Amino acid sequence: MRVRPMLVPPAEADRHAPDQRAEQVVRQADSEDELADIEQILARRDVAVLTGAGLSTESGIPDYRGATGSLRRHTPMTYQDFVASAAGRQRYWARSFLGWRTIVGARPNVGHYAVADLERAGYVSGVITQNVDGLHRAAGSPDAIELHGGLDRVICLGCRAESTREQLDERLHAANPDFRERAESTRINPDGDVELDDTLVATFRIASCTDCGTGILKPDVVFFGENVPRPRVQQCYDLIDRSTALLVLGSSLTVMSGLRFVRYAAKAYKPVAIINQGQTRGDEHASVRADVPLGRALTQLAERLAVTAP
Ligand SMILES: [Zn+2]
Repeated sequence: MRVRPMLVPPAEADRHAPDQRAEQVVRQADSEDELADIEQILARRDVAVLTGAGLSTESGIPDYRGATGSLRRHTPMTYQDFVASAAGRQRYWARSFLGWRTIVGARPNVGHYAVADLERAGYVSGVITQNVDGLHRAAGSPDAIELHGGLDRVICLGCRAESTREQLDERLHAANPDFRERAESTRINPDGDVELDDTLVATFRIASCTDCGTGILKPDVVFFGENVPRPRVQQCYDLIDRSTALLVLGSSLTVMSGLRFVRYAAKAYKPVAIINQGQTRGDEHASVRADVPLGRALTQLAERLAVTAP
């Protein structure tokens, strides 16, 4: 669980202790009220859930838009870079090859499980996720709509053949047997990407499609500069249409691909609730928002609605 950074150094903290304590009590009381409001929204049942990177941080996948985002040194790969440049693809797959271990080793956390419990009990009508880590499916939400796709699948841009990432990982490993050992850094972001030295990247051998022999392989994820497929967007609107409210979990709603659903729900006069650490671009549409750690909040909500054993 992430620790809130200290606002003042320890020596100062002592002097300010009474104020800080008072502030903490107020904050806690506030979030209690907010969680009670969110519980009421869920109690009406059939609430659509939209999740972002913040839900997966407790699974060890850092939120690159959140507090740790400043650690990120390189800009994300765009679709245009990926398609136009062999060097770009080499850079992507080299980093991704290393990052894949973190993604494949990540397990759902209590937040994912609470969402699945709430869904099984009918409080949640369905899940839309901006995450590409597959953790909702692993936690028992098999129908979660993966808005930005999933890292566990690969598509050929030539013949459109689909294959598994596991299979590609074996091929990449065979073509680059000692690459993992030579890579020093292991800083990961949610795209399964790591920081990596350019000279090392230049030695990485990428793989092409086994079906057509020459096609460019791309992870089945939506890159920056690429649109979410229309039918998938419609599926999300349909879910919101048949839902009583929208609950946003762990997303700052920085990109329009997620924010549009908040606007859509608000326009239809459906309550929008947000649980996120820090401000979001959807705050103006929220009828209630709680700034609390997700795992604990979701577990509390599920327990209060009596869908899991306390
Ligand atoms: Zn192909």
